[in-house]
Amino acid sequence: MLLQLRLRSFQQVFPSPQIRPKSNSIHFSDYRSGVPDFLNEAQLELQGRADDLGQRLAGLHAEPDYPEKLRAEIRSLSKDADIFSLTQPREYGGLEGSSTDLTIAREALGQWNVGHLPGIFGPSPGLLGQASAELKEAFLGRYLSGEITGGFGFTEPSDATRHTWATSDGEDLIVNGAKSYVTGGSDADFVNTLVELDDSGPAMILIETNRPGVSIDRRFGSLDGSHHASFVFTDVRVPRMHLIGAAGAGLSRALEQVNSVRMAIAADCVGLCGFMCDLIATHIKKSEDKGRNSDAIRIQFGRMRARTFAARSTIYRTARLIDAGENSVNEVMASKILATETAADLVDSAIQIVGGEALVESHPLATIFRRVRATRLAEGPTDLLHSNISRGYLDLDVGRI
Ligand SMILES: Cc1cc2nc3c(=O)[nH]c(=O)nc-3n(C[C@H](O)[C@H](O)[C@H](O)COP(=O)(O)OP(=O)(O)OC[C@H]3O[C@@H](n4cnc5c(N)ncnc54)[C@H](O)[C@@H]3O)c2cc1C
Repeated sequence: MLLQLRLRSFQQVFPSPQIRPKSNSIHFSDYRSGVPDFLNEAQLELQGRADDLGQRLAGLHAEPDYPEKLRAEIRSLSKDADIFSLTQPREYGGLEGSSTDLTIAREALGQWNVGHLPGIFGPSPGLLGQASAELKEAFLGRYLSGEITGGFGFTEPSDATRHTWATSDGEDLIVNGAKSYVTGGSDADFVNTLVELDDSGPAMILIETNRPGVSIDRRFGSLDGSHHASFVFTDVRVPRMHLIGAAGAGLSRALEQVNSVRMAIAADCVGLCGFMCDLIATHIKKSEDKGRNSDAIRIQFGRMRARTFAARSTIYRTARLIDAGENSVNEVMASKILATETAADLVDSAIQIVGGEALVESHPLATIFRRVRATRLAEGPTDLLHSNISRGYLDLDVGRI
């Protein structure tokens, strides 16, 4: 039933004769039912709410000329479903979902191919949650309410001769350097920026984008549809109290933020794998109803499901480790690798199975292809994460299998 609803809504959004399921002839069960999730009552209820929300969002008609109207509608539906504030702390009126809660919600939304839509989740404090009381007072409330927006400045231009650095000058810091890939940077009011602090090593510092010496030298979009800016900092004077966390602890501060984004990407990708499994199952059923049987495609489909099962098991295990307060940096990397690489593999296979129709730009597989491609680089390229997992085990004695 759930599957049929999902596919029905999917048809409304992406009408395509080649992928429309045939009447009520689908008897395979929802792929989720075969996986032992060990969810408690509250988590099952959350899964149901996220699933309902996903269905509603999949039925929305995007009006490209009114992106803000669409975002407001999404935000309102998500607030009604009690999903919006899962990413926000209780002290600011949020529901503060656990890692497992967020994985459940994001996976359910991914299964409707809507997890990427803007406005579903409220801004989370991220690094600002670890800022001084003074800095929180100045920025956090306004940030969480959506009054101001922020970006994350980590990646350096490939030709940078020196990493972005800051030197002390009395009660101020003077920042110089550049960040090349700040998502949402064009509209951001501030960028949480990784700098090398002269005497104490890496540090995160909040830099308002309207400070003298901050400039944007390029605005660009990427394949997945998101927008970014590259920043140059020339003798930017910032109060020392803009440091987030202890000076010298910048990399671990940044890594905490990166970890939660990696989990978000992984859960969405696993949801998308479920969406693609459903789509291909419908395609196969439809072909077989017409008398066209293909063992090769059935084998491909079984492979898609097996890979999805593995990636899905991984993200739930990792989410539970995080919730148990365990060191999970390596497991988060493994989850991100497996989920994104599996989604990339599945979308490629699914396109091949469906054929040319899947390459029509508005086809869900074409849009998933673009978005998933970016996830294998964003928040750490796969090879780099593999290399870090090796280092974790061989040099630092951390990481599980
Ligand atoms: C959609 C999107 C959004 C992004 N948003 C942000 C953002 O908000 N803020 C931000 O700071 N950045 C952002 N980025 C940038 C992203 O973090 C980087 O693209 C990513 O970390 C890779 O860095 P790079 O592009 O410099 O490539 P490189 O690090 O140069 O990697 C290129 C290749 O070299 C390989 N490689 C590099 N180092 C090693 C190593 N040590 N061992 C093995 N292989 C290695 C990689 O695996 C990869 O194949 C975003 C990127 C994308 C695609």
